[in-house]
Amino acid sequence: MKNIYTIPASAGETTAGSNRPFFNHVPDRLWNDWRWQMRSRVRTVEKLAQYLPLSHEQQEQLSFVTAKYPLSITPHYLCLINPDDPYDPIRRQAVPALEETALCGLGDEDPLAEAELSPVPGLVHRYPDRALIITGNICPVLCRHCNRKRQWRQGPFIQTDATLAPMLDYIQKTPGIRDVILSGGDPLTFSTGRLERLISALRRIKHVEIIRLGTRYPVTLPQRITVELCSMLAKYGPIWVNTHFNHPAELTPEAARACQRLLRAGMPVNNQCVLLRGVNDTVEVQEALCRGLLKINVRPYYLFHTDDVQATEHLRTPVEAGVAIMAGLRGSVSGLGLPTYVVDLPGGGGKVPLQPDYLISGSDSEYVFRNPKGKICRYRNPKN
Ligand SMILES: *Cc1c(COP(=O)(O)O)cnc(C)c1O
Repeated sequence: MKNIYTIPASAGETTAGSNRPFFNHVPDRLWNDWRWQMRSRVRTVEKLAQYLPLSHEQQEQLSFVTAKYPLSITPHYLCLINPDDPYDPIRRQAVPALEETALCGLGDEDPLAEAELSPVPGLVHRYPDRALIITGNICPVLCRHCNRKRQWRQGPFIQTDATLAPMLDYIQKTPGIRDVILSGGDPLTFSTGRLERLISALRRIKHVEIIRLGTRYPVTLPQRITVELCSMLAKYGPIWVNTHFNHPAELTPEAARACQRLLRAGMPVNNQCVLLRGVNDTVEVQEALCRGLLKINVRPYYLFHTDDVQATEHLRTPVEAGVAIMAGLRGSVSGLGLPTYVVDLPGGGGKVPLQPDYLISGSDSEYVFRNPKGKICRYRNPKN
C-alpha cells in the first residue's frame, strides 16, 4: 500500500507560517512563543467545541469524562487534527473518549508498581544502573494513553528544589546509578533555570554518566525547544533525549526543527512510540512513522505495547498486533528505523522485547531459519 503520510520537503528548515487553520489570526510572534502556546491550551469542553464539531450529547459526555480525566491540547497539536474526521489519529490521542470512564474496571492505576519501587517519593529505581525522576505531572497535551494517569487527579504539581533534594541525595548515595532519566509529567515544563539547577546538580555527582530527558514537547509544543534551552543543555552532556512521536502526521516542520536543534546541541534524539489502537496499529502507519523519523534524524528506539493502565483500554491492542507489525517492518524498512517492540511487565518486572520468531530449529551442526519473506534457510553451525 502506498504511504498516505508524507513529510513536508521543508522539514527541519522552516518555522511558522505553516498550516494553522484555527489560529490564522494569531501573529507569528505569539504562535512561536512557547509561553503563548502553553497559555492558550484548550482545557475545557466548551473551548474544544469552538474548534471541533461536537454535538450537545458529545459535549455532555466529554464533560463527564473530563471531571475525572482532564483535557489539555496545545494550539500546535490541535491544528494537526482534521476536524471532519471523528477517527483522526491525533484526535484519538488528545480528545477524551467516553470509554475512559465506561471501561474503567479494567487495568491498574500503577501497573508498573512505580510507587512501590520508589525509595524516595518521585524517584523510581527499578534497574540497578538507572533511576527515573518524575519531575511533575504538567504536560502541554494530556495524552489519553498516559501510563501515569493516576497522577492527574492530584491536581497540577511540579517538583521544587526542596522536593528534589532527597532524590539527589539518594542518587548521590547510590553509586550504582549511572543513568538518570528525567520523566514526567514532562521535565521541559520546568523553567530553563530550574532545569539547569537540577541537571547541574546531577552533573556534580561523579558516578552519573548520562542524563536522559523523556519529553513529548518536540511533538506537542515544539516551540519550547528554544536556542536558549539548547545552549543550556549543551553544557551538561552527555544528554540523550527520548521523545514520543506516535503518528507520521506529528512530523511537522516545527517538530523536525525542534529535533534538529537538540541534535545540533549534541543530544541524540530517540523515539518511544506507544502502540495504540486506531492510531498507529497498522504496518502502513508504522512504516511511514519509522521512515519519517529517520528523515529527521530521529532513531526509533522502542515500540511499547500499551501498559495495562486504567482508563486506556479502548486504545490497547492485543500483543499479537505488535508482533505482526514488527514482522511487516523487518526486511522492508532500514534496520536503523526498526524499533524494539517491548512489553513492560506488571509489578515492575521490567521491559522485555518481543519479536517474530525467525528460528525454526537449532542443533550442534545446523540452524534452520525462516526469513521475513517466509523462505526456509539452513545455516551450518561451526563446531565449538
Ligand atoms: C523504562 C524505564 C527505564 C529505562 O529503560 P531502558 O530500557 O534503559 O530505556 C528505567 N527505569 C524505569 C523505571 C523505566 O520504566
